[in-house]
Amino acid sequence: MAEQSRFGTAGVPPTFRLLKAKLPDIPLLLREEELDAFEYQAVRWGTKPQIKQQEAEKLGVEAKKYDIRLSMHGSYFINLAGTPNVIAASKERLIAGAIAADWMAAYVIVFHTGFYGKFEKSYAFNVCLKALKEVSQTVKDLGLKVKLGPETMGRKFQIGSIDEIITICQEVENTQLVVDWGHLHARDLGVFKKIDDVRAVAEKIESTLGSETLQSMHCHFSKIEFSSQGERKHHILNEPHYGPEFELLAKVLIDFKMHPTIICETPLLDVDALKMKQMLWHILGKNDVNLQNLSL
Ligand SMILES: [Zn+2]
Repeated sequence: MAEQSRFGTAGVPPTFRLLKAKLPDIPLLLREEELDAFEYQAVRWGTKPQIKQQEAEKLGVEAKKYDIRLSMHGSYFINLAGTPNVIAASKERLIAGAIAADWMAAYVIVFHTGFYGKFEKSYAFNVCLKALKEVSQTVKDLGLKVKLGPETMGRKFQIGSIDEIITICQEVENTQLVVDWGHLHARDLGVFKKIDDVRAVAEKIESTLGSETLQSMHCHFSKIEFSSQGERKHHILNEPHYGPEFELLAKVLIDFKMHPTIICETPLLDVDALKMKQMLWHILGKNDVNLQNLSL
């Protein structure tokens, strides 16, 4: 059977918290909802892993048992284009995340690369690229299996246009393409209006990084509110005032035979992750996903 798209949540769904679920319980709870991915949120971490190795390994064992693909979102406190001190600390934070990601056998650590700051865009980008090559070498030297996943970003002052992320994936070893579709939509002020707008991004990726990278990309998805500077706020799928519509992406996923891991970043997490799965399966003509399984 051809590989299928996977759907999961950015962190622990609020309903699981009500159940007082512990971290190793999450994979089973997601599996019971017919979801199959989970992005552990290490977003407030400093320069050391803030999870015990044993607990991370336990999560990894349970995820494997229930076939939940694990990823990690690295620290928000990363700027690989800042002052030398900031870059050094950012590299440490990214590596701390990578070490813990390896403990849980997460396949990718997703992260935000940094800000242009007072620099010219191309200069800032090159500073960031150099730092990332060094991080990649350290990850290799430490023998870690996790891939580095630079994410497309939603604000105009952040490094992370689709072209920049493609260049990083071409230049830095051991990377995993991460496309946050809501971010791209916000950064370019509502660019995804029709299928061809989404298809253009897929074609660009295919022509630069190849079909395999396109088909196995890691995605974030949510509806998004933006101002002239880009991203403001994530919204649920059922919100008619904001885009992009998941159906546009779903049709492109099918056209390009893609099987990404899609992490839902709307406030509803598992509910909307399942809605996306349902929309994709509906277009594919499969039986509808059973929404009753949600632990509401
Ligand atoms: Zn992110």
